[in-house]
Amino acid sequence: MRHSQVSSYSVTLLPGDGVGPEITDATLAVLEATGVEVAWDRQIAGAAAAGVERRGNPLPDPAIESIRATKCALKGPLETPVGGGYRSVNVALRKEFDLYANLRPVRTVVPFRSYDNIDLVLVRENTQGLYAGVEHFVQIGDDPKAVAESMAIVTREGCHRICRFAFEYALHHARRKVTLVHKANILKMVSGLFLEEGRLVAKEYEGRVECDEKIIDNAAMQLVMKPESFDVIVTTNMFGDILSDQIAGLVGGLGLAPSANIGSKASIFEAVHGTAPDIAGQSKANPTALILSAAMMLEHLGELDAGQRVRDAVIATIKGGTRTGDLGGTASTAAFAKAVAQRVK
Ligand code: NAD
Repeated sequence: MRHSQVSSYSVTLLPGDGVGPEITDATLAVLEATGVEVAWDRQIAGAAAAGVERRGNPLPDPAIESIRATKCALKGPLETPVGGGYRSVNVALRKEFDLYANLRPVRTVVPFRSYDNIDLVLVRENTQGLYAGVEHFVQIGDDPKAVAESMAIVTREGCHRICRFAFEYALHHARRKVTLVHKANILKMVSGLFLEEGRLVAKEYEGRVECDEKIIDNAAMQLVMKPESFDVIVTTNMFGDILSDQIAGLVGGLGLAPSANIGSKASIFEAVHGTAPDIAGQSKANPTALILSAAMMLEHLGELDAGQRVRDAVIATIKGGTRTGDLGGTASTAAFAKAVAQRVK
């Protein structure tokens, strides 16, 4: 077991909007129980920073500077206004810190509906494709929004590095197979380039990691029909965004789905879910997704033992019957965290 040489880590903390502050408090209680010393630099972003009238900067400079210095952040969900309003702070952070790989593992904790033994890892390209944010309206006659255009931009280098990340991940985590998910039959260039690079990378890992390919629509169906036929999935930005919520649904929903955004300049750990405005402020949110994201952060920092203890404690707590409402239980966010923290100790 690898142990860290460091006695205290500096990490930026962005509690976020909606359920963010509640699940952040819960996660901090669990992290404290590990005994790993973290010096948190607490910052605000999203709606909390933009203010009630949404006129402030949703991504203030001190938050960016803090992440630049610590190179590591634990982040709650941030609100993005739908349609108009400020642009996504999540997307801005991914661009700012070149967080090109979004790692989203899902694993069955307790059988959910007809699904059992789900163990999947989705690797999503995080900075390119349709989310590059190159879009505009075209005015025709009196209508300033007669046409909307968005450009999906991918680069050979971007496709190559996300596929290499997925194969390296598979190799170092004893995973058997990587599935390249694409739509190269229709999007011959933007998805074709991804598939071309994926096949090249796969060749380098021949004999060590298997590779297969699936078109996105078939992949979406097969994930529901035969999830056991997948292991690691690598795909482009929007397909990955959609599939990651889908696979979270195979294990009991978004409350259980953690993620890591790994980049060349920093890494940011966060739950897959959003601000859950429908349950915010009610102490109903399941903090598991953020707690498991924090476990990924501990492992990233080299604290493998602490990361594993957190994961084991979460699983044991849920199996032991202490559950939040999304999993059919009655525990509050804080009560669930307390139960996990006790097991971590
Ligand atoms: P959401 O993920 O917030 O909620 C979807 C559903 O899942 C809701 O019914 C919610 O109650 C439930 N849910 C989510 N997290 C839960 C938890 N921890 N425990 C129990 N139930 C949970 O998605 P949405 O409603 O589409 O988005 C709300 C806001 O969040 C939007 O502004 C969106 O832009 C933002 N968002 C942010 C991030 C991020 O910061 N990474 C990710 C996704 C969405």
